[in-house]
Amino acid sequence: MDLTGVLAQLGCDIDLDAPDGLDLDSPIDGSYLGCVSMNSASDTSEIIDASVSASKAWRSVPAPIRGELVRQFGLALRDNKEALGTLVSIETGKIKSEGLGEVQEMIDICDFAVGQSRQLYGLTIASERPGHHMREMWHPLGVSLVISAFNFPVAVWSWNAALSLVCGNSVIWKPSEKAPLCAIAAHKLLADVIEQFDEAPSELSQLAIGGRDVGEALVASPDVDLVSATGSTRMGREVSKVVSDRFGKVLLELGGNNAAIIAPSADIELAVRAIVFAAAGTAGQRCTTLRRLIVHESIIGQVSEKLRAAYSQLRIGSPLEEQTLVGPLIDGDSVVAMQQAIDEARASGAQVFGGESVEVAGCEKGYYVQPCIIESDSQLDVACRETFAPITYVVPYSELAEAIELNNEVPQGLSSAIFTTDVREAELFTSAVGSDCGIANVNIGPSGAEIGGAFGGEKETGGGRESGSDSWRAYMRRQTVTVNYSSELPLAQGVNFDVGGS
Ligand code: NAD
Repeated sequence: MDLTGVLAQLGCDIDLDAPDGLDLDSPIDGSYLGCVSMNSASDTSEIIDASVSASKAWRSVPAPIRGELVRQFGLALRDNKEALGTLVSIETGKIKSEGLGEVQEMIDICDFAVGQSRQLYGLTIASERPGHHMREMWHPLGVSLVISAFNFPVAVWSWNAALSLVCGNSVIWKPSEKAPLCAIAAHKLLADVIEQFDEAPSELSQLAIGGRDVGEALVASPDVDLVSATGSTRMGREVSKVVSDRFGKVLLELGGNNAAIIAPSADIELAVRAIVFAAAGTAGQRCTTLRRLIVHESIIGQVSEKLRAAYSQLRIGSPLEEQTLVGPLIDGDSVVAMQQAIDEARASGAQVFGGESVEVAGCEKGYYVQPCIIESDSQLDVACRETFAPITYVVPYSELAEAIELNNEVPQGLSSAIFTTDVREAELFTSAVGSDCGIANVNIGPSGAEIGGAFGGEKETGGGRESGSDSWRAYMRRQTVTVNYSSELPLAQGVNFDVGGS
């Protein structure tokens, strides 16, 4: 299906010939996709004002009814899964099954959020004063802003939007300037549901298409109560300074630099299969992509041989072809960044396998690369940075403590994994002295999280948690309530303050 056909199927009438808009090139074959109109930074105050009004109406709608809106959005996603998944592939170059998987993730979070809409629980707390009780109430925040990255162009928004909506907030979405078409199409599905939903104010969810300047203007506004930002650590650093300066709330999901340890007792066949998906899948463009492999010295030769054999079999090509496993990088800058990292590793004396640009017949101007393995005796400086491309750095270790130290040595702290059949090693890795990441897996790779768990990482990954578990709390404000149902007025901590008289 071509772009026009997919957009038509999604009921999206987008002007692809907008004057002074955002120019879009296909990562698949470099062809010009069109120019979409965008907002300017000066439009943002109108968008925010409308969002403030919408949040004031929405916060009084009972949470289970808010959940019903999200349930209906989930149904719309089910009806449009094939078309939206295809659009993700066309615009970002993800292989078709990952494009569809991304939409499935949206459906999953909607289901989760619907259940959550009846479970916005607070604690009840024993009061030290007679005739008093205490409880926690969770209230909507107001306006939530979602800034998303190109590599999960629709799922990340839905993780945030589904929960934020059931929590009673309005939502503004600033998608990646590299994937506005997916955003327009996904947002239209929600906007159509909102239009038909009596209790929902029409501007409950809004879209602000544009570049960094549009994001900056939204982030700076004191009327935006929560900024949930997914993207590079550079972006997160800038956003968090601005938002904390005005005492707003941030939820940051930033860069990762994820490792896996392969211990001597590992099931090597299973480990290699897992590693190839985690390292080369999505062309290395997941925040949870496996970038560093720490292998016990007794098995490193065997692992390396199997890995090189598997990498040489990876089918690289158009993401729209069924058999393709590795699609293109998002743009030419990513290819350059990958080559620079490889050159730096080579200059440090490392051995490099793969990493060349690949010409795909019929897609000669696409950004295809051969996933790369870089072997060295110790962890390279370049391996401590996130290069958003399929490069896997491999280093040996002798003791598990040393492997854990290598895992934790980088500034990012998103995901990690260990392959072992030794229960002591597995437990140590997931203990307080093990991996320092937000995600620690045993016998699966670091990527491919399910929505049921809280997703996010430590250190330069930003510390935010999205999606499952109790992540919903980030979208609400907590109020501690003390009620005196007696006719006395005892003070806490036994304080006496009796003025006498009447
Ligand atoms: P990016 O930081 O270039 O852009 C992300 C978004 O931030 C875009 O919408 C962009 O317009 C906006 N933006 C940039 N600077 C801004 C500013 N100063 N103020 C407001 N908005 C601003 O990231 P990218 O290249 O699109 O995505 C790749 C990066 O995202 C990688 O580092 C990857 O690890 C990370 N990522 C993290 C997660 C996670 O959950 N931790 C998920 C996906 C991607």
